Amino acid sequence: MQRKDLKTEQDIIDRLLSARSLSEEEYLRLIEGRTAESAALLAEHAVTVRDGIYGRGIYTRGLIEISNICKNDCLYCGIRRSNTRCIRYRLTKEEILSCADEGYELGFRTFVLQGGEDPFFTDEILSDIISSLAAKHPDCAVTLSLGERSKESYERLFQSGASRYLLRHETADPLHYARLHPPEMSFENRMRCLKDLRETGYQTGCGFMVGSPYQTAAELAKDLKFIEEFRPDMCGIGPFIPHKDTPFAKETAGTLELTCFLLSVIRLIVPNILLPATTALATIHPRGREKGILAGANVVMPNLSPLPVRKKYELYDNKACTGDESAQCRSCLEERMKSVGCHLTVDRGDVKNIQKGQQENADL
Ligand code: SAH
Repeated sequence: MQRKDLKTEQDIIDRLLSARSLSEEEYLRLIEGRTAESAALLAEHAVTVRDGIYGRGIYTRGLIEISNICKNDCLYCGIRRSNTRCIRYRLTKEEILSCADEGYELGFRTFVLQGGEDPFFTDEILSDIISSLAAKHPDCAVTLSLGERSKESYERLFQSGASRYLLRHETADPLHYARLHPPEMSFENRMRCLKDLRETGYQTGCGFMVGSPYQTAAELAKDLKFIEEFRPDMCGIGPFIPHKDTPFAKETAGTLELTCFLLSVIRLIVPNILLPATTALATIHPRGREKGILAGANVVMPNLSPLPVRKKYELYDNKACTGDESAQCRSCLEERMKSVGCHLTVDRGDVKNIQKGQQENADL
């Protein structure tokens, strides 16, 4: 019996490698049956596939956290509107542009404007900021991560010069979604946003937290199937980490082990995906980012926000890298990447569309 099971596990892995597709039940088995050996094998394949497409250069994105004011009340998030202990801030246009200028000098060629859903940032105000940023740095990409908006809004921001958008789906299971969010938020709207973003022409990113409350391997299997079907350009995954002033304060954090395992699987499902080793991963383990890279990630997103606001954008407790100047951050990351045989690149870092030859290479 055990031998047969082992063989089946191997079959599943072989098919993931050749077809880049599994059924939801097979994803479930892959997750539930994982061992240190299967994780190491998948990581090895994931790194080979990544190297075949992107090489050993790791893309960097300068993260600018433009506001921690949020109209939403996501149960897991430290900047949810009900958290009265959160000290709120909003960056001015000048502050945002000066963060980007500093980042440019340091070698960043993508700027990610992320924030809570702050009603102050109307389409008009954001368009002005994005077009100024794009005009000042025409060789850079502007990525947005500003939550749910209307299709018209996404279109207008795209026309102003933003070319990528990150909106984690958070979970591909509607019931699980409802347990993580307040009643006024809906899974359907999240999915509508992702579809609108893609149709507008953005390089689109989804993603989820690993180990969020009520999540089991069954929900994760749905996330993997969703990623297989949606085929995002980017996917942000990191461990859930409790925040002391949220309803999930007493929940346990997600693990490094499972996050890295899933990073490898995602790389194998969508070989050319842009996959960050996230700050949350660096928060739960001192070498979390490096381990993410060793599992198949190819992006890091250090913080360019002004030092005084870094600690205020506190989605979860003990967020890593809130104390270093941007320059220190970049050189620290450079060293960390070298320690795992990689290096930071000075590049916009767009998603690479794989040609037939490269795909074959990636399959090796
Ligand atoms: N308002 C934007 C940006 C959200 S912050 C949006 O809705 O897309 C970016 C991501 O941080 C979220 O999508 C969520 O997946 C993650 N996050 C929030 N709280 C977290 C927590 N407690 N632990 C780990 N990740 C968290």
